[in-house]
Amino acid sequence: MAKSKRKILLHVCCAACLAYSYKILSAEGFEVIAFFYNPNIHGRSEYDKRLKDVVSTCDKLSVKLIIPKYDIQEFFEEIFPYQQQKSLKYVSDPERFKKKRCTLCQNLRLSMTVSEAKKKRFHYFSSTLLVSPFRNHSEIINQAIDLSLNRNIKFFYRDFRKGYFLGRNYSRANKLHLPRYCGCVDSLEERILE
Ligand code: SF4
Repeated sequence: MAKSKRKILLHVCCAACLAYSYKILSAEGFEVIAFFYNPNIHGRSEYDKRLKDVVSTCDKLSVKLIIPKYDIQEFFEEIFPYQQQKSLKYVSDPERFKKKRCTLCQNLRLSMTVSEAKKKRFHYFSSTLLVSPFRNHSEIINQAIDLSLNRNIKFFYRDFRKGYFLGRNYSRANKLHLPRYCGCVDSLEERILE
């Protein structure tokens, strides 16, 4: 009897990052289940564009996809206390706030991935957040390891950054939407001001 594959829940931010991560994970013998949880994305139309491409890429790769509801409040609730002057958590320095914002954003998406993986009794999780060379890669690893230890689930790590440009080429070749900003409204403003 054929041995069943190990299942891994892969948090997915966009189709470009999914394409390369999927290749690596399936070569490692995993059955990949994608999880599109990104309440940080500013703008319903941007969210829909990214989701549409993730759906078509999953169809093409025969990957099951889980799509939780989109509620941007879940992201705002995380960062709100750090923006409020009256809050004990308030971070006044813009650069420090920016770092904090991304830490919280990553952690929210990773921890929801872990919750979903636990609910579905998968033994592994990972994330396409590990694809971008522009993110704080070591921080994402540390956050994932903490979640792994605290929630008793295995975190599968590979340095997906090698595939960043391959993923972008895949998107161009398949005429997919290439996100121009990371996701949140601040990242959109930062992109415009660049
Ligand atoms: S810049 Fe990206 S990672 Fe940082 S908070 Fe915004 S969406 Fe999240």
